[in-house]
Order: sequence, then structure tokens, then C-alpha cells
Amino acid sequence: MRNMKELIDKLEKNRILSHDELAVLIEDNSKETLEYLNERADAVRRIAFGNSVYIRGLIEFTNYCKNDCFYCGLRLSNKNVDRYRLTKEQILDCCQKGYALGFRTFVLQGGEDPYWNDTRLLVLIEEIKARYPDCALTLSIGERPKESYEKLKLAGADRFLLRHETADAKHYAVLHPKEMSHENRVQCLKNLKEIGFQTGCGFMVGSPGQTTDTIIEDLLFIKELQPEMVGIGPFLPAADTPFSDREPGSVELTLRLLSIIRLMNPKVLLPATTALGTASESGRSRGIRAGSNVIMPNLSPSDVREKYSIYDNKLATGVEGSEGLKELKLEIEKIGYKIEVTRGDAPRV
Ligand code: SAH
Repeated sequence: MRNMKELIDKLEKNRILSHDELAVLIEDNSKETLEYLNERADAVRRIAFGNSVYIRGLIEFTNYCKNDCFYCGLRLSNKNVDRYRLTKEQILDCCQKGYALGFRTFVLQGGEDPYWNDTRLLVLIEEIKARYPDCALTLSIGERPKESYEKLKLAGADRFLLRHETADAKHYAVLHPKEMSHENRVQCLKNLKEIGFQTGCGFMVGSPGQTTDTIIEDLLFIKELQPEMVGIGPFLPAADTPFSDREPGSVELTLRLLSIIRLMNPKVLLPATTALGTASESGRSRGIRAGSNVIMPNLSPSDVREKYSIYDNKLATGVEGSEGLKELKLEIEKIGYKIEVTRGDAPRV
């Protein structure tokens, strides 16, 4: 353990380790190592953010998708999905409800739905920003041409989440059909950064084909891209997908990686994701204690929530629902943190 402590202290000091050192840390599944990693990551987070936890209202506005990612329950080939698409009015209603609850960031997430072309998105973005000028708007709508991202930014969108899924091109091909290219995904992220979006990348923990080496590539990719946000959560199998019978990713490894990411990127916005909360009842609070500082409760209308099933048994109600905000506040306060009613922008790095 002394060696592990030294390694973690070295990571805290240098914000980077060698490939072999990272491998040792990623693979050490002892309780003591996780506890010390969490402790140091929490200390680093408190320097940048104090005990603040930011909330984002997540609006899952369409589950139509033209892609066929092997892991995702909403993949094109899944004919058992009851497809829905919220109208502009429904989305604005979600924002109104969210604003009253105290949300100052709205996240529009969806499949890659061709209905939502630039014209329609621009009208929506402009309307949201006109009604809620004090709120940040985040998009999570997949890969688009650079010119499209530019228009979305000009219309007023502030942030964009696009997980890279894996930094290893061969691993990417295990997770995606051949029509999808790793190169394009990475290029999209670079474009988003260049255009000036607060940009988020990220990956699933324990996705089929993932190895310690691909995780190290992920960590180094994040270090190089310098995103404002990083989303990670355990892979969870989804029915009617090629990976429906695969093992779920490990909660402990996810917590270890959250802390490592925090130590490598002190100022990054790091959500305790719904997948982590779904995989373990204590996942959300353990994520916060491991260095996470963002939670994204579900603001979608109740009747569509279960239709956005990217994986099985996805939580969308209770504390994961925006209506559970009071309980969420208590849960967070109980472990020594505080929910902030602010936009919660990324600090300047
Ligand atoms: N279409 C958008 C949003 C995708 S959903 C996009 O491409 O960015 C957001 C994230 O959920 C995905 O990037 C993926 O990392 C994660 N996800 C999808 N299926 C999952 C599964 N079965 N288990 C865990 N996470 C999953």
C-alpha cells in the first residue's frame, strides 16, 4: 500500500503518470487504494470547486437514431423501441418546469435524428435562449458537420457532450458498425473545441473489448484534448442489442477512474452518471465522493422516460428525476456537499 500511496501522490503532484504506473493503478482493486484515490481526488476537487455540486436538467428529446451502435438500446436495428420525438412546445415546457425547480443548465440529448436538422434546431435553441438568457444550453446530439456545429453555437448553444467512447480505433470498431468511423468522432470533438463549445468527451467503463491499455489511451486522450467535461459510467447491457448478454462494467473500476480523471484534470466537470446510479444504489453518492461534481436529473416528460432506454433498467425517476430534487439535495448534503443553483460553467483552465 505504501507504494500505491506514493503512486497516487505522484499523480496528484504531476497530473500524469507513465503508462505502466497508470496500469498498476487501474488494475489495483483493493479497498485501500480506492479509498486513498477517492480521498485525494476529493481534496483536489475542493480546491477548484469547494463542496459545490452542479445540476443539469436532462431532456431526452428524441429516441430516433440513424446509427447502429452495438451497445445502445436505441440503435436503428432495434425494432422493439417505441420511438418518440418531443415537440418544440414540449421541450419548452420541460425548460419551464426545470427553471422553476432551480435548473440553470438544460441538456438536450437524443439519438441522431434526421428530423432535427439545423433549421429546426436553430429555432429551438434561439427560443430557449431567448426565454432563459441566464441559463446554459448543452447539446448531446451526436456527430454533425463542422458547419452545423458552428450554426448551433451561433444560435446560442453553450456546451456539447460527445463521448469519444474509446480512444482506440480497433476497440471503436468492436463497438460500432463499419459505417461509423473513429476518425470522424475524434474530428468532431476537435471541431467542437475549436468552435468554442465547452466540450465533453467520455467513455463507458467495461464495454466489450475494453482493456487496461485502451483505458490508458482514453486517459491520455482526455489529457490531450483538455475537455471541459468528461462523462464516464459503467457499460450496462441493453436488451435486443448484440451485447445484451455481456457482463456489466464494474462500479469499483468506474469509481477508481473517476478519481484518476479528477487527479489528472483538476478543473474538469465530472458527472456522477445515471449509469453509475443504475448499477449501484450508492453509485451516485460514491461518485461524488470519488471526485464527481455534476448530477444530471431527468427533466423529460414522465411518459417518455422509459422509452429512452439506452440500457436496461435505466433510472429516470426518484432522485434521478427532476421532481426528486429535494431528496437529491438531502442526499448530497448528508455526505457533505451542496447543490448549486447556477449555470456551473467550466472554470478557465
Ligand atoms: N446520440 C448521442 C447521445 C448518446 S447517449 C451521441 O452519440 O452522443 C449518451 C451516452 O450513453 C453514449 O455516448 C454512451 O457512452 C452511453 N451509452 C449508450 N449505451 C450504453 C449502455 N448500454 N451502457 C452504458 N452506457 C451507454
